[in-house]
Amino acid sequence: MRFLQPATWSEALEMKAAYPDARPIAGGTDVMVEINLDRNRPATIIDLSRISDLAEWGPEGAVVRVGAAVTYTRLIAELSDRLPALALASRTVGSPQIRNRGTVGGNLGTASPAGDAHPPLVAQDALVELGSTAGTRRVPARDFFVGPKRSAKRADELIAAFLVPPASGPQQFAKVGTRNAMVIAVCSFALTLNPVTRQVGTGIGSAGPTPLRAVEAEEFIAGVLHEQQAWETRQRISDSMLRRFGELAAAATRPIDDVRGTADYRRQAVSVLARRCLGWAWEDYRRS
Ligand SMILES: Cc1cc2nc3c(=O)[nH]c(=O)nc-3n(C[C@H](O)[C@H](O)[C@H](O)COP(=O)(O)OP(=O)(O)OC[C@H]3O[C@@H](n4cnc5c(N)ncnc54)[C@H](O)[C@@H]3O)c2cc1C
Repeated sequence: MRFLQPATWSEALEMKAAYPDARPIAGGTDVMVEINLDRNRPATIIDLSRISDLAEWGPEGAVVRVGAAVTYTRLIAELSDRLPALALASRTVGSPQIRNRGTVGGNLGTASPAGDAHPPLVAQDALVELGSTAGTRRVPARDFFVGPKRSAKRADELIAAFLVPPASGPQQFAKVGTRNAMVIAVCSFALTLNPVTRQVGTGIGSAGPTPLRAVEAEEFIAGVLHEQQAWETRQRISDSMLRRFGELAAAATRPIDDVRGTADYRRQAVSVLARRCLGWAWEDYRRS
């Protein structure tokens, strides 16, 4: 196996251009499992761990730019205030050891429909920054995923970062698994409230071939909140409206039956998660 260790981002891009089949490795929590189980034995590996820019984050205009190799542990410790839904999702990833190594860049690289970082990125309309020797482009997270474990990233590209607007209101994330910890999502849901634009964002995980958005549910509840002037009065959302939001979220799923759960169970669970996330986030807003 050829093992490449670039010290800079431009060196990494040149290596990826020279070896388009090379497998980048960040935390290795997906790559090493595949190698250990002999599912995939790449001829060339590009180790990204020496590129310091990749592990940095900071403001860029109105958004936060987070390097692809920032770990979940650091996201939780350093970005919980700016990116609460992503931090909540990060808390549910694996174990402390996995969160110490695993990165959102790696989650995006694998592009599993069950990746826990994806629903918050979709709900927040994040951008994924991709780099190659030909240049840099930014793809909306909502367009990044094109199928199960397939993304818009080209073979000559690496993921540099993702860009997210910092939270301007309450956010939530909830996940159903077959046990309480160290578990791949049976399904998950992220919700963002934006009291400034009066928009509601959603992201659904593990209930379709890609992470999904519940557009009708978003529009329905934004309409209700507007009509009832609820952003101003901070009144409660009725149970029937919460239930309807959940039903519309479930209708946006495209689940399958698999070893972790049936399609029917996933639809039902998404409706419950969506209702709960909206209820919790709205209560946070009312109290703020
Ligand atoms: C025990 C265990 C529990 C887990 N639990 C969860 C969980 O609860 N939720 C969850 O979502 N995931 C979970 N995972 C999966 C894994 O931890 C995550 O997907 C993690 O985000 C991968 O990050 P990484 O840095 O380790 O990626 P790596 O393994 O280094 O890479 C993953 C993929 O992304 C590519 N890649 C990495 N960085 C880049 C880059 N900068 N540019 C282009 N491609 C890149 C790699 O080539 C590879 O294809 C678990 C894994 C294990 C082993």
